Amino acid sequence: MFIEVEDLKPEPLHIHHVFPIAEIKFFHEDAVLSEPVATDFVLMHKDRDLRVDGTVETAIRFKCSRCAKEFSQPFATGFNLSYLPQPKWTENEEIELRYEDMEVAYYDGVFFDVDLMVLEQIELAMPMKFVCREDCKGLCYKCGADLNEGACLCKKEETDSRLSVLLEFKKKVDK
Ligand SMILES: [Zn+2]
Ligand SMILES: [Zn+2]
Repeated sequence: MFIEVEDLKPEPLHIHHVFPIAEIKFFHEDAVLSEPVATDFVLMHKDRDLRVDGTVETAIRFKCSRCAKEFSQPFATGFNLSYLPQPKWTENEEIELRYEDMEVAYYDGVFFDVDLMVLEQIELAMPMKFVCREDCKGLCYKCGADLNEGACLCKKEETDSRLSVLLEFKKKVDK
């Protein structure tokens, strides 16, 4: 979806749009979108300087990096962005940030690409690591058992062997 900046009215433009999954070109090694992507935002402008405030909501499906189970989780992100027409190279040094407290991005000054903004916001808000929950215990590195479902036998053996080493040691000391 493109918004032609020349057509913008003086009053804020409110947009609600739901993209089918396939329309957002999201490619990620560890995650896929699992629900249509809904965006809700208000676009204001001063000539060709744009300001966009809104949200993106969808769901992502991923494999937990600890327990390897597949999960689908709601995903939402909010943004307050400022888009300025792409400055020409020669003007580069004179660019001053006009909205210091906001993120500034550039566009061609003619068409505002909504799909691209939505995609970038999703990518920016993606977690670095995918875990099904903060305290996921993961899999036992020895037997592969899911430790969320209880301790496996390895844990017990490990303590046993540590204990026997300790007993061995005690025997030696006692001699
Ligand atoms: Zn997990
Ligand atoms: Zn185990």
